[in-house]
Amino acid sequence: MPSGDVLNPISTNHYRQLPEALFSLGNPEPVSAPALQLLNKPLLDEYAQDHKWFESNAGLAVLSGNAVNAANPPIAMAYAGHQFGQRVPLLGDGRAHMLGQLQTKTGAIDVQLKGSGRTQYSRGGDGRATLSSVLREHLISEAMAGLNIPSTRSLGVITTGETVYRETPEPGAVLIRTARSHIRVGSFQHAANLGDDAVKALADHLLKYSYPELTDSAAPYTDLLLSACNRQADLISQWMLCGFIHGVMNTDNMSLVGETIDFGPCAFMDTFKADKVFSSIDRQGRYAWAKQPGIALWNLSRFAETLLPLFDNDNDTAIGIAERQLSSFMPAFQTAFYSGLRQKIGLINEPHTANAFADRTLSVLGQHAIDMTVFFDALTRHVSGESETPLLDLFNNKADAIEWLSDWRALHNNNPGTADTMRRANPALIARNHRVEAALLAATNNNDLKPLLRLSEALRTPYQCSTENRDLQQPPLPDEIVKETFCGT
Ligand code: AMP
Ligand code: MG
Repeated sequence: MPSGDVLNPISTNHYRQLPEALFSLGNPEPVSAPALQLLNKPLLDEYAQDHKWFESNAGLAVLSGNAVNAANPPIAMAYAGHQFGQRVPLLGDGRAHMLGQLQTKTGAIDVQLKGSGRTQYSRGGDGRATLSSVLREHLISEAMAGLNIPSTRSLGVITTGETVYRETPEPGAVLIRTARSHIRVGSFQHAANLGDDAVKALADHLLKYSYPELTDSAAPYTDLLLSACNRQADLISQWMLCGFIHGVMNTDNMSLVGETIDFGPCAFMDTFKADKVFSSIDRQGRYAWAKQPGIALWNLSRFAETLLPLFDNDNDTAIGIAERQLSSFMPAFQTAFYSGLRQKIGLINEPHTANAFADRTLSVLGQHAIDMTVFFDALTRHVSGESETPLLDLFNNKADAIEWLSDWRALHNNNPGTADTMRRANPALIARNHRVEAALLAATNNNDLKPLLRLSEALRTPYQCSTENRDLQQPPLPDEIVKETFCGT
């Protein structure tokens, strides 16, 4: 074990500059037997951080919550939110502590402990997280990063030695989560409850640290809303293009820097179904695959409402400004989504015809209950010279398969996307639910991290798949299909 005399690199916390009602000071609750299970060394390298402190006993003490840096005390952030459309006036980090920021070449990165004990915002909760939920977030957030989709990241996982009581007793763990910012739509809703000064302070903070390109803008708050809409439109389109369903797009779970945040009952769909829902608590299908852009716009509208006093003193004028910015969201989403879909399908030009064919293709996938990832992978392979048979075999019947393929060929002959451009849009691997569940079961029931490490390693480069990982590409067998996911906190 390297010595612990290397300095803690998390030495600042810019959130402490915010008005006090936006956060609260408080230390993590100590744990009995902290042990570092996973350390994400590639991510430390990306952040250009020395590994030593993270591998040291001093690092473990801080990252498990057993020690605090008195010069940079931890905080919990306050936020409000709409959960499944219902307004909740105060939520906040009920089981997370923000340690501060790492300084990297590309800016400051938040380091937050999740599962680190009770805070002012815990309400009835125990402030803890199960190992299974922590490993799930580690695996899926890193899979998102592998797909080049903006996401909070996992620097590592620490088991605590504590038992966490859910439906059954489970081992407890802490996730070391990083993000470009942890400011959410719900953070602004909380600020709005406090008053205009709090909203202005939070908006100025977000602009300074996360939208520096808007520093010289003549209308920074209007541009902030517009840029947040654009980042969100891009994010949701990228989710949908690889079949990702977030599952709990409450306003407190929407980051204002455009990263995927809060991996609860999220999942990648196998068989394509536009109204697919996995979350056991989403009974109305509010957060179904195809509903995600509409929900993102609904959430952004809640954000816009909080900014109205910053737009104009006259409320009607302010509402007009907000509506203009919000009206850019759907066109931005459509542009990003269809351009991605055209790339997936290998028809990159002639957008009008190609978009219509892409829509038809999605309906065909739904009608024939075809696995989305397998389909686009098979099409990519076909364009790169492999046989068409695996693609045709995915359809329920030969006639429909041949009709689709010959129509696609006619368009592709005039409008060819190369196998290379298609490959960049079509992952060979996704974090398949049955694989994720099996890896979590092995880790928590048998203390065996190997399946999780193998899956995680493969998902770092999902646009290629080595021969030894072919099994990870396979869709689930009928008895392996995961029909429902749970918050499993
Ligand atoms: P989520 O649905 O995970 O976004 O969480 C909603 C709210 O519940 C957030 O304010 C969380 O901090 C809080 N929360 C979730 N789990 C716990 C827990 N075990 N203890 C305390 N608060 C929690
Ligand atoms: Mg949350």
